[in-house]
Amino acid sequence: MKFFWVFLFALFSFVLFSFFGNPPILTVTDNLIGLKNNLAGIFFVASTSEELLKTKYAAAKNGGEAIRILIVPGHDSASVGAQFKNVKEADLTAELGERLAALFENGKEFEAITVRTKSGYSPEIASYLEKERSSIQAFRDGYRLYMKSAVDSGLVTRREGVSHNDAPEEWTIKLYGINKWANENDVDLVLHIHFNDHGGRPANRLGKYSGFAIYFPEKQFSNAEASAAVARNIFNRLSAYFAPSDMPQESPGIVEEQELIAVGSNNSLDPAGMLIEYDYIYEPQFLYPETRQAIIDELAFQTYMGIKDFFDGTATGAENPPETTLLPYKWNSDMKEGFTGSADVLSLQAALIREGVYPPPGFTRNDCPITGVFKKCTVAAVKDFQKEYGIGPTGYVGPQTRKILNEKYAPQQ
Ligand SMILES: [Zn+2]
Repeated sequence: MKFFWVFLFALFSFVLFSFFGNPPILTVTDNLIGLKNNLAGIFFVASTSEELLKTKYAAAKNGGEAIRILIVPGHDSASVGAQFKNVKEADLTAELGERLAALFENGKEFEAITVRTKSGYSPEIASYLEKERSSIQAFRDGYRLYMKSAVDSGLVTRREGVSHNDAPEEWTIKLYGINKWANENDVDLVLHIHFNDHGGRPANRLGKYSGFAIYFPEKQFSNAEASAAVARNIFNRLSAYFAPSDMPQESPGIVEEQELIAVGSNNSLDPAGMLIEYDYIYEPQFLYPETRQAIIDELAFQTYMGIKDFFDGTATGAENPPETTLLPYKWNSDMKEGFTGSADVLSLQAALIREGVYPPPGFTRNDCPITGVFKKCTVAAVKDFQKEYGIGPTGYVGPQTRKILNEKYAPQQ
Protein backbone atom coordinates (compact mmCIF):
# COMPACT_ATOMS: atom_id res chain seq x y z
CA MET A 1 0.00 0.00 0.00
CA LYS A 2 2.79 2.34 0.89
CA PHE A 3 4.31 1.85 -2.52
CA PHE A 4 0.99 2.74 -4.10
CA TRP A 5 0.90 6.12 -2.37
CA VAL A 6 4.49 6.91 -3.31
CA PHE A 7 3.68 5.96 -6.86
CA LEU A 8 0.54 8.08 -6.85
CA PHE A 9 2.45 11.01 -5.39
CA ALA A 10 5.13 10.69 -8.06
CA LEU A 11 2.53 10.51 -10.78
CA PHE A 12 0.65 13.43 -9.35
CA SER A 13 3.83 15.48 -9.03
CA PHE A 14 4.67 14.69 -12.61
CA VAL A 15 1.26 15.82 -13.77
CA LEU A 16 1.57 19.02 -11.76
CA PHE A 17 5.06 19.60 -13.05
CA SER A 18 4.00 19.23 -16.63
CA PHE A 19 0.95 21.42 -16.13
CA PHE A 20 2.44 24.26 -14.21
CA GLY A 21 6.19 23.92 -14.58
CA ASN A 22 6.93 24.07 -10.86
CA PRO A 23 8.93 21.27 -9.20
CA PRO A 24 6.57 19.70 -6.67
CA ILE A 25 7.84 20.15 -3.15
CA LEU A 26 4.54 19.99 -1.33
CA THR A 27 2.64 17.16 0.29
CA VAL A 28 -0.06 15.28 -1.56
CA THR A 29 -2.81 17.24 0.19
CA ASP A 30 -1.18 20.56 -0.59
CA ASN A 31 -0.79 19.46 -4.14
CA LEU A 32 -4.45 18.60 -4.39
CA ILE A 33 -5.40 22.02 -3.07
CA GLY A 34 -2.82 23.60 -5.33
CA LEU A 35 -4.22 21.80 -8.33
CA LYS A 36 -7.71 23.00 -7.57
CA ASN A 37 -6.56 26.57 -7.05
CA ASN A 38 -4.71 26.48 -10.30
CA LEU A 39 -7.64 25.03 -12.17
CA ALA A 40 -9.90 27.65 -10.66
CA GLY A 41 -9.33 30.58 -12.94
CA ILE A 42 -8.83 28.54 -16.06
CA PHE A 43 -12.07 26.61 -15.83
CA PHE A 44 -14.24 29.02 -17.82
CA VAL A 45 -12.95 29.33 -21.36
CA ALA A 46 -12.46 32.90 -22.62
CA SER A 47 -15.48 34.15 -24.58
CA THR A 48 -13.83 37.39 -25.71
CA SER A 49 -10.43 39.01 -25.42
CA GLU A 50 -8.67 42.30 -25.76
CA GLU A 51 -6.99 41.09 -28.93
CA LEU A 52 -10.21 39.85 -30.49
CA LEU A 53 -11.94 43.18 -29.88
CA LYS A 54 -9.05 45.19 -31.27
CA THR A 55 -8.90 43.02 -34.39
CA LYS A 56 -12.61 43.54 -34.95
CA TYR A 57 -12.18 47.27 -34.43
CA ALA A 58 -9.38 47.47 -37.01
CA ALA A 59 -11.65 45.68 -39.49
CA ALA A 60 -14.56 48.00 -38.57
CA LYS A 61 -12.44 51.03 -39.43
CA ASN A 62 -11.94 49.52 -42.87
CA GLY A 63 -15.64 49.09 -43.48
CA GLY A 64 -16.09 45.80 -41.61
CA GLU A 65 -18.74 45.01 -39.06
CA ALA A 66 -19.02 47.70 -36.37
CA ILE A 67 -18.21 47.17 -32.70
CA ARG A 68 -21.59 46.69 -31.05
CA ILE A 69 -22.06 48.41 -27.74
CA LEU A 70 -25.12 47.70 -25.64
CA ILE A 71 -25.98 50.58 -23.33
CA VAL A 72 -28.14 49.64 -20.37
CA PRO A 73 -29.44 52.62 -18.38
CA GLY A 74 -30.14 51.23 -14.91
CA HIS A 75 -33.69 50.93 -13.52
CA ASP A 76 -36.83 52.20 -15.26
CA SER A 77 -39.94 54.31 -14.80
CA ALA A 78 -41.64 51.58 -12.77
CA SER A 79 -38.68 51.08 -10.46
CA VAL A 80 -36.60 54.25 -10.40
CA GLY A 81 -33.64 53.16 -8.27
CA ALA A 82 -31.95 55.69 -6.02
CA GLN A 83 -33.73 58.96 -5.37
CA PHE A 84 -32.78 62.27 -3.80
CA LYS A 85 -35.35 65.07 -3.61
CA ASN A 86 -36.67 65.25 -7.19
CA VAL A 87 -33.64 63.49 -8.73
CA LYS A 88 -34.41 59.96 -9.88
CA GLU A 89 -31.65 57.53 -10.80
CA ALA A 90 -33.68 56.09 -13.71
CA ASP A 91 -33.86 59.56 -15.32
CA LEU A 92 -30.15 60.26 -14.91
CA THR A 93 -29.18 56.86 -16.34
CA ALA A 94 -31.48 57.35 -19.35
CA GLU A 95 -30.07 60.84 -20.02
CA LEU A 96 -26.50 59.60 -19.77
CA GLY A 97 -27.29 56.59 -21.96
CA GLU A 98 -28.78 58.75 -24.71
CA ARG A 99 -25.85 61.13 -24.58
CA LEU A 100 -23.35 58.27 -24.78
CA ALA A 101 -25.18 56.62 -27.69
CA ALA A 102 -25.08 59.94 -29.57
CA LEU A 103 -21.29 60.10 -29.20
CA PHE A 104 -20.91 56.65 -30.77
CA GLU A 105 -22.89 57.84 -33.80
CA ASN A 106 -19.89 59.92 -34.87
CA GLY A 107 -18.05 57.06 -36.51
CA LYS A 108 -18.96 53.95 -38.48
CA GLU A 109 -16.70 51.79 -36.32
CA PHE A 110 -19.21 51.79 -33.46
CA GLU A 111 -22.85 50.89 -33.25
CA ALA A 112 -24.65 51.72 -30.02
CA ILE A 113 -27.84 49.97 -29.00
CA THR A 114 -29.72 51.51 -26.09
CA VAL A 115 -31.93 49.25 -24.00
CA ARG A 116 -34.04 52.10 -22.63
CA THR A 117 -34.44 55.82 -23.26
CA LYS A 118 -36.56 58.34 -21.38
CA SER A 119 -39.51 57.28 -23.52
CA GLY A 120 -39.21 53.61 -22.55
CA TYR A 121 -37.63 50.29 -23.50
CA SER A 122 -36.46 49.65 -27.02
CA PRO A 123 -39.31 47.74 -28.72
CA GLU A 124 -36.95 44.93 -29.75
CA ILE A 125 -35.65 44.33 -26.23
CA ALA A 126 -39.09 44.74 -24.66
CA SER A 127 -40.61 42.11 -26.92
CA TYR A 128 -37.62 39.79 -26.39
CA LEU A 129 -38.00 40.01 -22.61
CA GLU A 130 -41.68 39.23 -22.89
CA LYS A 131 -41.63 36.46 -25.48
CA GLU A 132 -38.51 34.72 -24.20
CA ARG A 133 -39.49 34.85 -20.56
CA SER A 134 -39.40 31.11 -19.96
CA SER A 135 -36.20 30.54 -21.91
CA ILE A 136 -34.60 33.40 -19.96
CA GLN A 137 -35.61 31.70 -16.71
CA ALA A 138 -34.08 28.46 -17.96
CA PHE A 139 -30.93 30.35 -18.99
CA ARG A 140 -30.67 31.96 -15.55
CA ASP A 141 -31.30 28.73 -13.64
CA GLY A 142 -28.93 26.79 -15.88
CA TYR A 143 -26.06 29.18 -15.22
CA ARG A 144 -26.78 29.22 -11.50
CA LEU A 145 -26.60 25.43 -11.42
CA TYR A 146 -23.51 25.30 -13.59
CA MET A 147 -21.69 27.77 -11.35
CA LYS A 148 -22.77 25.92 -8.23
CA SER A 149 -21.42 22.61 -9.47
CA ALA A 150 -18.17 24.24 -10.59
CA VAL A 151 -17.78 25.78 -7.15
CA ASP A 152 -18.77 22.56 -5.35
CA SER A 153 -16.16 20.60 -7.25
CA GLY A 154 -13.51 23.21 -6.49
CA LEU A 155 -12.98 24.31 -10.07
CA VAL A 156 -14.18 27.86 -9.46
CA THR A 157 -13.79 29.91 -6.31
CA ARG A 158 -16.72 31.93 -5.16
CA ARG A 159 -15.76 35.43 -4.13
CA GLU A 160 -17.97 37.60 -2.03
CA GLY A 161 -17.65 41.20 -3.07
CA VAL A 162 -19.43 44.37 -2.06
CA SER A 163 -22.86 43.44 -0.79
CA HIS A 164 -25.63 44.42 -3.19
CA ASN A 165 -29.33 44.18 -2.70
CA ASP A 166 -30.52 40.92 -4.19
CA ALA A 167 -32.42 41.71 -7.35
CA PRO A 168 -36.11 40.82 -7.12
CA GLU A 169 -37.35 38.00 -9.38
CA GLU A 170 -38.64 40.34 -12.11
CA TRP A 171 -35.32 42.15 -12.27
CA THR A 172 -33.28 38.97 -12.44
CA ILE A 173 -35.34 38.05 -15.51
CA LYS A 174 -34.72 41.47 -17.09
CA LEU A 175 -30.99 41.41 -16.35
CA TYR A 176 -30.37 37.79 -17.34
CA GLY A 177 -32.55 38.48 -20.37
CA ILE A 178 -30.25 41.34 -21.35
CA ASN A 179 -27.21 39.05 -20.93
CA LYS A 180 -28.87 36.38 -23.05
CA TRP A 181 -29.84 38.90 -25.72
CA ALA A 182 -26.28 40.28 -25.75
CA ASN A 183 -24.84 36.75 -26.12
CA GLU A 184 -27.13 36.01 -29.05
CA ASN A 185 -26.76 39.32 -30.86
CA ASP A 186 -23.02 39.72 -31.36
CA VAL A 187 -22.68 42.44 -28.76
CA ASP A 188 -19.04 43.28 -28.03
CA LEU A 189 -19.40 45.44 -24.95
CA VAL A 190 -22.19 45.92 -22.41
CA LEU A 191 -22.28 49.08 -20.31
CA HIS A 192 -24.64 49.29 -17.36
CA ILE A 193 -25.17 52.86 -16.18
CA HIS A 194 -26.04 53.57 -12.55
CA PHE A 195 -25.85 56.21 -9.87
CA ASN A 196 -24.91 55.13 -6.41
CA ASP A 197 -26.54 55.66 -3.07
CA HIS A 198 -25.35 55.39 0.47
CA GLY A 199 -27.71 52.84 1.96
CA GLY A 200 -29.29 53.88 5.21
CA ARG A 201 -29.04 57.65 4.79
CA PRO A 202 -32.24 59.48 5.83
CA ALA A 203 -34.38 60.58 2.86
CA ASN A 204 -33.40 63.97 1.44
CA ARG A 205 -30.22 64.04 3.53
CA LEU A 206 -26.73 63.72 2.11
CA GLY A 207 -24.93 60.40 2.46
CA LYS A 208 -21.38 59.91 3.57
CA TYR A 209 -19.71 58.77 0.37
CA SER A 210 -18.94 60.29 -3.02
CA GLY A 211 -17.24 59.44 -6.28
CA PHE A 212 -17.54 56.88 -9.07
CA ALA A 213 -16.96 53.11 -9.10
CA ILE A 214 -16.58 50.70 -12.00
CA TYR A 215 -17.55 47.08 -11.38
CA PHE A 216 -16.14 44.55 -13.82
CA PRO A 217 -16.21 40.73 -13.93
CA GLU A 218 -13.98 38.79 -11.55
CA LYS A 219 -10.93 37.28 -13.24
CA GLN A 220 -12.18 33.68 -13.38
CA PHE A 221 -15.02 34.63 -15.72
CA SER A 222 -14.94 34.17 -19.48
CA ASN A 223 -15.31 37.86 -20.25
CA ALA A 224 -12.88 39.07 -17.55
CA GLU A 225 -9.73 39.98 -19.45
CA ALA A 226 -11.32 42.22 -22.07
CA SER A 227 -13.69 43.78 -19.54
CA ALA A 228 -10.85 44.66 -17.17
CA ALA A 229 -8.89 46.34 -19.96
CA VAL A 230 -11.83 48.49 -21.08
CA ALA A 231 -12.72 49.30 -17.45
CA ARG A 232 -9.19 50.50 -16.73
CA ASN A 233 -9.27 52.85 -19.72
CA ILE A 234 -12.61 54.34 -18.65
CA PHE A 235 -11.33 54.61 -15.08
CA ASN A 236 -8.29 56.58 -16.21
CA ARG A 237 -10.42 59.06 -18.15
CA LEU A 238 -13.02 59.56 -15.44
CA SER A 239 -10.41 59.93 -12.73
CA ALA A 240 -8.79 62.89 -14.49
CA TYR A 241 -11.71 65.05 -13.32
CA PHE A 242 -13.75 62.91 -10.92
CA ALA A 243 -12.88 61.32 -7.62
CA PRO A 244 -13.07 57.53 -7.34
CA SER A 245 -15.53 56.36 -4.69
CA ASP A 246 -14.39 56.67 -1.10
CA MET A 247 -16.76 53.97 0.09
CA PRO A 248 -14.25 51.55 1.66
CA GLN A 249 -15.30 48.40 -0.27
CA GLU A 250 -15.38 50.34 -3.56
CA SER A 251 -12.12 52.13 -3.06
CA PRO A 252 -10.20 52.90 -5.26
CA GLY A 253 -13.15 53.02 -7.66
CA ILE A 254 -12.45 49.93 -9.74
CA VAL A 255 -13.86 46.70 -8.39
CA GLU A 256 -13.70 43.06 -9.51
CA GLU A 257 -17.09 41.53 -9.03
CA GLN A 258 -18.64 38.09 -9.27
CA GLU A 259 -22.19 38.55 -8.07
CA LEU A 260 -23.73 41.35 -10.10
CA ILE A 261 -25.88 39.98 -12.93
CA ALA A 262 -24.90 43.02 -14.99
CA VAL A 263 -21.26 41.94 -15.23
CA GLY A 264 -22.23 38.32 -15.89
CA SER A 265 -22.75 36.57 -12.56
CA ASN A 266 -22.45 32.79 -12.85
CA ASN A 267 -20.47 33.39 -16.03
CA SER A 268 -23.65 34.24 -17.94
CA LEU A 269 -22.27 37.04 -20.14
CA ASP A 270 -20.05 36.37 -23.16
CA PRO A 271 -19.12 39.90 -24.29
CA ALA A 272 -17.06 42.30 -22.21
CA GLY A 273 -19.22 44.08 -19.66
CA MET A 274 -19.19 46.41 -16.73
CA LEU A 275 -21.39 48.44 -14.45
CA ILE A 276 -20.51 52.03 -13.73
CA GLU A 277 -21.82 53.84 -10.67
CA TYR A 278 -21.14 57.35 -11.92
CA ASP A 279 -21.55 59.19 -8.66
CA TYR A 280 -23.75 59.36 -5.61
CA ILE A 281 -27.30 60.49 -6.34
CA TYR A 282 -27.29 63.24 -3.68
CA GLU A 283 -24.41 65.22 -5.23
CA PRO A 284 -25.59 68.82 -5.88
CA GLN A 285 -24.56 68.86 -9.56
CA PHE A 286 -27.56 66.61 -10.35
CA LEU A 287 -30.06 68.78 -8.50
CA TYR A 288 -29.97 71.86 -10.77
CA PRO A 289 -30.85 71.71 -14.49
CA GLU A 290 -27.87 73.76 -15.70
CA THR A 291 -25.18 71.69 -13.98
CA ARG A 292 -27.03 68.41 -14.41
CA GLN A 293 -26.96 68.68 -18.18
CA ALA A 294 -23.31 69.73 -18.27
CA ILE A 295 -22.14 67.00 -15.90
CA ILE A 296 -24.10 64.25 -17.71
CA ASP A 297 -22.49 65.39 -20.97
CA GLU A 298 -19.08 65.27 -19.34
CA LEU A 299 -19.57 61.80 -17.80
CA ALA A 300 -20.73 60.44 -21.16
CA PHE A 301 -17.79 62.07 -22.91
CA GLN A 302 -15.18 60.62 -20.53
CA THR A 303 -16.73 57.15 -20.88
CA TYR A 304 -16.64 57.46 -24.66
CA MET A 305 -13.02 58.63 -24.59
CA GLY A 306 -12.02 55.71 -22.34
CA ILE A 307 -13.56 53.24 -24.78
CA LYS A 308 -11.84 55.00 -27.69
CA ASP A 309 -8.52 54.82 -25.80
CA PHE A 310 -8.97 51.08 -25.38
CA PHE A 311 -9.72 50.46 -29.06
CA ASP A 312 -7.23 52.92 -30.48
CA GLY A 313 -4.54 51.60 -28.17
CA THR A 314 -3.59 55.16 -27.28
CA ALA A 315 -2.09 55.80 -23.91
CA THR A 316 -4.84 57.22 -21.77
CA GLY A 317 -4.90 60.97 -21.67
CA ALA A 318 -2.81 60.97 -24.85
CA GLU A 319 -3.45 64.67 -25.01
CA ASN A 320 -2.12 66.53 -22.05
CA PRO A 321 -4.03 67.87 -20.21
CA PRO A 322 -6.84 65.38 -20.75
CA GLU A 323 -9.81 66.76 -22.65
CA THR A 324 -13.03 67.77 -20.94
CA THR A 325 -16.35 69.12 -22.21
CA LEU A 326 -16.21 71.71 -19.40
CA LEU A 327 -13.34 73.52 -21.14
CA PRO A 328 -12.77 75.68 -23.11
CA TYR A 329 -15.30 77.98 -21.53
CA LYS A 330 -15.98 81.70 -21.51
CA TRP A 331 -16.92 83.36 -18.22
CA ASN A 332 -19.08 86.44 -18.74
CA SER A 333 -19.98 87.25 -15.14
CA ASP A 334 -18.28 87.42 -11.78
CA MET A 335 -18.55 84.48 -9.38
CA LYS A 336 -18.52 84.33 -5.63
CA GLU A 337 -19.11 82.13 -2.61
CA GLY A 338 -22.70 80.95 -2.39
CA PHE A 339 -23.28 80.42 -6.13
CA THR A 340 -25.17 77.16 -6.60
CA GLY A 341 -26.17 75.12 -9.65
CA SER A 342 -23.93 77.25 -11.83
CA ALA A 343 -22.37 76.03 -15.09
CA ASP A 344 -19.89 78.93 -14.75
CA VAL A 345 -18.69 77.49 -11.44
CA LEU A 346 -18.59 73.96 -12.86
CA SER A 347 -16.16 75.07 -15.56
CA LEU A 348 -14.27 77.24 -13.08
CA GLN A 349 -13.69 74.12 -10.97
CA ALA A 350 -12.45 72.20 -14.02
CA ALA A 351 -10.03 75.06 -14.79
CA LEU A 352 -8.83 75.05 -11.19
CA ILE A 353 -8.13 71.31 -11.47
CA ARG A 354 -6.06 72.06 -14.57
CA GLU A 355 -4.21 74.72 -12.58
CA GLY A 356 -3.40 72.15 -9.90
CA VAL A 357 -5.09 74.17 -7.14
CA TYR A 358 -8.30 72.15 -6.80
CA PRO A 359 -8.66 70.48 -4.35
CA PRO A 360 -6.75 73.00 -2.24
CA PRO A 361 -4.07 71.66 0.14
CA GLY A 362 -5.47 69.62 3.02
CA PHE A 363 -8.54 68.50 1.06
CA THR A 364 -9.18 65.37 -1.02
CA ARG A 365 -10.86 65.08 -4.41
CA ASN A 366 -13.86 63.65 -2.58
CA ASP A 367 -14.02 66.69 -0.27
CA CYS A 368 -13.94 68.99 -3.28
CA PRO A 369 -15.61 67.48 -6.35
CA ILE A 370 -16.78 69.36 -9.44
CA THR A 371 -20.27 70.40 -8.32
CA GLY A 372 -21.09 73.84 -9.65
CA VAL A 373 -21.41 74.98 -6.03
CA PHE A 374 -19.06 77.75 -4.89
CA LYS A 375 -18.13 76.93 -1.30
CA LYS A 376 -14.99 76.81 0.83
CA CYS A 377 -13.07 74.46 -1.53
CA THR A 378 -13.56 76.84 -4.44
CA VAL A 379 -12.86 79.93 -2.32
CA ALA A 380 -9.51 78.47 -1.18
CA ALA A 381 -8.60 77.31 -4.72
CA VAL A 382 -9.47 80.70 -6.24
CA LYS A 383 -7.24 82.40 -3.62
CA ASP A 384 -4.35 80.09 -4.60
CA PHE A 385 -5.00 80.84 -8.27
CA GLN A 386 -5.02 84.58 -7.57
CA LYS A 387 -1.72 84.37 -5.65
CA GLU A 388 -0.21 82.49 -8.56
CA TYR A 389 -1.10 85.35 -10.93
CA GLY A 390 -0.24 88.23 -8.61
CA ILE A 391 -3.81 89.20 -7.77
CA GLY A 392 -4.80 90.01 -4.20
CA PRO A 393 -6.29 86.71 -2.89
CA THR A 394 -9.93 87.47 -2.17
CA GLY A 395 -11.59 84.24 -3.29
CA TYR A 396 -13.95 86.41 -5.35
CA VAL A 397 -13.81 85.96 -9.12
CA GLY A 398 -13.99 89.56 -10.34
CA PRO A 399 -13.00 91.15 -13.68
CA GLN A 400 -9.24 90.77 -13.10
CA THR A 401 -9.39 87.06 -12.22
CA ARG A 402 -11.92 86.41 -14.98
CA LYS A 403 -9.65 88.10 -17.51
CA ILE A 404 -6.86 85.61 -16.74
CA LEU A 405 -9.27 82.68 -16.74
CA ASN A 406 -10.64 83.74 -20.13
CA GLU A 407 -7.14 84.28 -21.55
CA LYS A 408 -6.23 80.74 -20.58
CA TYR A 409 -9.48 78.83 -21.00
CA ALA A 410 -11.91 80.69 -23.29
CA PRO A 411 -12.31 79.29 -26.82
CA GLN A 412 -9.75 80.60 -29.31
CA GLN A 413 -11.23 83.30 -31.55
ZN1 LIG B 1 -28.70 51.65 -9.65
